[in-house]
Amino acid sequence: MNRLHLVRTQKPPVTTHYTSRTLDSTQPAASRRRACVKQLELGPSKTMAYRSVCKTLVNLHGGATFVQMRHLSTSNKLNNSYRAVVVGGGAGGLAMASMLGSKFGKSQVAVVEPSDNHYYQPMWTMVGGGLKTFDQSARMTKDIFPSNATWIQDAAVKFDPDNNTVYTKDGKELKYDLLIVAMGLQLRFEQVKGLQEAIANDPMVCSNYSAETVMKTFPALQKLESGNAIFTFPNTPIKCAGAPQKIMYLAEHYFSKHGKRDKINIIYNSSLPVIFGVKKYANELLKIIEERNITVNFRHSLSEVNHEKKEAVFVKLDSENQETVNFNYDFLHVSPPMGSPDVLKNSPIAAENGFLAVHKETGQHTKYPNIFGIGDCTDIPTAKTAAAVAAQSGVLNRTIEAVLAGREPQKLYDGYTSCPLVVGYDKCILAEFDFNAQPLETFPFDQGKKRTSMYYLKKDMMPEFYWKGLIKGKWEGPGVFRKILHLGMGK
Ligand code: FAD
Repeated sequence: MNRLHLVRTQKPPVTTHYTSRTLDSTQPAASRRRACVKQLELGPSKTMAYRSVCKTLVNLHGGATFVQMRHLSTSNKLNNSYRAVVVGGGAGGLAMASMLGSKFGKSQVAVVEPSDNHYYQPMWTMVGGGLKTFDQSARMTKDIFPSNATWIQDAAVKFDPDNNTVYTKDGKELKYDLLIVAMGLQLRFEQVKGLQEAIANDPMVCSNYSAETVMKTFPALQKLESGNAIFTFPNTPIKCAGAPQKIMYLAEHYFSKHGKRDKINIIYNSSLPVIFGVKKYANELLKIIEERNITVNFRHSLSEVNHEKKEAVFVKLDSENQETVNFNYDFLHVSPPMGSPDVLKNSPIAAENGFLAVHKETGQHTKYPNIFGIGDCTDIPTAKTAAAVAAQSGVLNRTIEAVLAGREPQKLYDGYTSCPLVVGYDKCILAEFDFNAQPLETFPFDQGKKRTSMYYLKKDMMPEFYWKGLIKGKWEGPGVFRKILHLGMGK
């Protein structure tokens, strides 16, 4: 983390709260600032006692920050003013809403989330493999929404960070003291020519990556009798970078169990130059790929699908003139291109790459100290997973506490992320690693080996951690268990 930068943007501390009693709006700004004599060094619980809203005014050029506090009537909800606004009610959004709701109180925390349904997306690998039903991965948002937060069923369409305002599709203007951005990734099926048409018209083209397409996968695996089964990995950052190959191993195992494996060629075409970003796990995966006679083509990026000809076109990314190569497919599982949501990408809070610009170890925005981010939509350079969201939620909660108390955040995120690499109907390699792609394993045995225990952990226990822990703000990842299981000697 650029700690110097963090310190600089926090001078004077962003928790310097001033009551409106000390502020006379007819005074010029500078003297109003001088008049802000009442500094409240508040911990979060004390902060709650004040029924007030802070307005953070950031003088970016001078690097100075101060917080002006105005008294809030009980009608804050009607006025659409909140202590915290969370944009996105997925894994990270609900975790943070639960944590902040218990700090600030229900009418003080709003979550902007358009969807009626909430999905445990990691289960879609199992849905595609026929191991779980789609319904098992879904809940009604209203049924799992934190009781201590307010749901605004709407979509954010514009961020105005200089005025602490988020605008919504239905025309709401939401004011906040703290903004948490947790919008996830936008799927970009349209970036592959012909893909949407192929998904709509060809039962053998599927994708575990969306609620609309995941239910096509297992029927297609069942239907396939022979030919080419192709699995793709796009040329963009994606969520759960292991998922494009997990479904391939399940498919291979399924074909073997049903006596059709020798009539099916399994082909993995990936834009990446490696099978997995962590060497230890990559080595094991390459062994499995060889044992099971799977063809892998690196640096091949899907650019077009012609479902009438049953053809998939790939760009050879390392070729001089971006040559293309055509593959006939009989089954095609596509991991689509993904990116930062447009609303975020085109906003002043995005980094150059379109993701939310945050300090990677604290989750605090690099420019606006009252803005924070969690999960897939941030530019935190780690693999985008729900496991990472869990670890980030614990850190971000403490970052916000520290910021409110005028302290420098002490708990720093180490990049922890995890990818349960399901390699068949009874085995899983539980990859866990940090920012430096170094293993950060919870269990005191070699997680590089495929294991049945890890398979059941992934299939049956992780959904419980999600529904009962993560989205309720009660699961911050396995860090504590890791320490205990390694007798305090691990990281
Ligand atoms: P999300 O959970 O995607 O939530 C984003 C939310 O923002 C959504 O609810 C969306 O509706 C909302 N939103 C979007 N735009 C707006 C807007 N304009 N206004 C308001 N709200 C908006 N992770 C693991 O840890 N392990 C796994 O094994 C695993 N496997 C996976 C397999 C598949 C097939 C997939 C698809 C994902 C997998 N993941 C896995 C990844 C994991 O699901 C995500 O990393 C995680 O959900 C990210 O959480 P998030 O809060 O950042 O985003």
